[in-house]
Order: sequence, then structure tokens, then C-alpha cells
Amino acid sequence: MHILARRARRGKAVRSTFQQVLGKPIDIVTNFPIDLANLERAALESALVERGHKRFHARQIFRWLYARGVTDIAAMTDLSRELRAALASEFTVATPEIVVHERSTDGTEKFLLRLADGLQLESVFIPDTPSMTFCVSTQVGCAMACAFCLTGKMGLVRNLTAGEIAGQVRVLAGALDMRHKKFNIVLMGMGEPLHNYDETMRALRILNDEHGFAMSPRRVTLSTVGLLPALEKMAHEPIMPNLAISLHAPTDELRGELVPLNKKYGVGEIIAACKRFPQTKRSRITFEYVLLAGVNDSPEDARKLARLLSGVKSKVNIIPLNAAPGIPFERPSDTAIDQFAQILAERGLIVSVRKSRGRDIRAACGQLIVEGPRRSPGQALAAVLHTETFKGKTRNVEA
Ligand code: SF4
Repeated sequence: MHILARRARRGKAVRSTFQQVLGKPIDIVTNFPIDLANLERAALESALVERGHKRFHARQIFRWLYARGVTDIAAMTDLSRELRAALASEFTVATPEIVVHERSTDGTEKFLLRLADGLQLESVFIPDTPSMTFCVSTQVGCAMACAFCLTGKMGLVRNLTAGEIAGQVRVLAGALDMRHKKFNIVLMGMGEPLHNYDETMRALRILNDEHGFAMSPRRVTLSTVGLLPALEKMAHEPIMPNLAISLHAPTDELRGELVPLNKKYGVGEIIAACKRFPQTKRSRITFEYVLLAGVNDSPEDARKLARLLSGVKSKVNIIPLNAAPGIPFERPSDTAIDQFAQILAERGLIVSVRKSRGRDIRAACGQLIVEGPRRSPGQALAAVLHTETFKGKTRNVEA
């Protein structure tokens, strides 16, 4: 079945999430009791009202969950004792559990998280990018099968729920004592966010709630390989994150080898969609380009890329490959990386070269993989800014 048809089918399931099973409300997606943390505030208000409670309690619950990090319903002490008992009998609060927390010598921190069904994923905290950044996942595994990515080799295990996506942020903010500090979010962990469209957008709405993290969409960057129908749909969302396109090649012939989805949505269509994508005066679309030695790193590739992006309000984020066992590509030499960036900068593009972070804890870019449902993920996505000077055109960009 086509991936978008599968997504649409899953969207239907998510919408009919409240099902009475033997008299108890069960989330038919997760098969667990309904998770308060998986509800937008409006849905939580409806659930409360349906049960004879006041709507405004939803605001209180949001503040407990997100602003205070309290997940034990019994400890939500500005709710009446009766309401707490009623909520506890019907709802749960599912929070990803930290299994391993590692810190790299460069400050990157990697969290191995276990979900309610035992599946595991990783989220990464990247300091000084220049803002603090949380890199979170939207799926366990990924169906896109990009040739240079270990996550793609897993295939798609399952979509994350909105509660699990936002839950990674809750967990990291709590563990790092950052609930009341500003941070950015990049949806660049495991998975293709637009392949899990409904849950990803719902997670963004939960994170944006003024009684929760009040996360501005300007602080969120969504990275996609270019699922065009979903990208066009996102252009009409009230909460629209910054956009990053995982491009990696300037021609269909080459990109088709690296990103199988390109056979369906080609480079020209993606660039045309980017030109139509609504942008504020200051915003630019980031084009990510994983640089692979001898594959897409030639001066001619750089010139073609510059021509392709002419007329697009863009910035290019060059990501030299983090070589790893199982990936049949090599990292280019520093000279080749510099030359590639220089050619783009000379043609007026804003360029940055991303420096890998967290290699000592296997948290380097594009290599997040779960090796088995109960084993530690091998490597996680993490990346950070690395400013180099290419005739003054290069500047810091979000990871
Ligand atoms: S690069 Fe991104 S979209 Fe491609 S396989 Fe890896 S996780 Fe999926």
C-alpha cells in the first residue's frame, strides 16, 4: 500500500482513539489506557466535560505535565481529591523512560528512551548551537531507506504518537532542568516526520500550547526528504515549523540513488514546492546535503546545486558523512568539503558546514539505529553548528 494511504488510514485510527473496551477507555492505537499526555488541550477539555468535569481543569493538567514536570495524577494538588481519583481510574500519563543517559566530551547528551510498549529510541541534546537544541524522533525506524542512513536500514517499526514525540521533549527538559529555559527542537531524529504527519502536527500543537511549553514554531525545524503531498498540506497549517529539505544531490539521477523517494517526487518538483512554501520575510528553507566522498562532492555537483537553488530563499547545510559500519560511503576530505562550500558561497548562497557532535557516545548525524526492540540503539542523530568562513557568506544555522 502506498505510504500516504497507510498514513491516511492511521490518521483515521488516531481520530477514533476513544473506544470503550470492557467499559474502560482504551487508546486503540497504543492499546493502553488513554494517555493524558497524548491529548491536545481541546481534546482533554472534551474528555473532561464528557465525564462531568470542568473544562478549565485541562489548563491545570497541562501546567502540571509541562511546566512542572509532574506526571503522577495524585500529585496534581490543585485538582480536588475526587477529580484526581476519577482521573487516575480512567487515564494514565505515559512518559518515555530514560534507560541510558550519556554525555559526550563535547557536551552532547544522548538519551536512550523506552516507550510503553518496550520499543526504544534515542533523543539527543545538543548544547550551544548557538541555542540549546533537542533532536527528537517521530518514528521508530524509517521507511525512506536513504542509502547513507542506518535508520533507513531498520525499515519502519512504527509511528510515534504525538504524546511520545512531545514526551521526548518533556523528558529531556526535565532531565536537563530546562523546563523554563529557551530551547530549539529539530525533528531530525529517527523517522520521516511527514510520513507520520498527523501525530507530528498534533505534537507541535501540544508543545505550542500556552499552558504547556508555549513552544514557538519558529523554534522548531522539521526535516523532510520531500513527501510532497504532506509538504503542501503543511503549508496550510496554523502552526508551521521551519522547513529543512534533505536534498543530498542536485540531479534526479544522483538523488534517486541516494533517496529512493526521489523516484516519486523529483528534484524539480521539490524545488517548485519550496518556492511556493509560505515564508516570513526573514525565514529561509534549509537544504541539507550529506557530503559523500566521490559520490556527490565534486565541484560540478556544487555548481549544479547552486544553479538549482537560485531563486529559492535558502541556506545550505553541508553535513560531511559520519562514516560508520554498514554505510557504504566515505567522508570526503577536508579539502573537498571546503571546496564544495566555497563554490556555493561564491555563487551567493548562505552555507554552513555541520560539525559532528557526540561521536564518542555514538551520537553522530544520520546514524540512529535500534538494533533490536530491547537493545540499545547503536547511534543517534546529533549535529551542531560549525561556522567556517567562506567569503563571509557562511553563518551559523540551526542543527
Ligand atoms: S535520512 Fe531521514 S528520511 Fe532518510 S532513512 Fe534516514 S531517517 Fe529516514
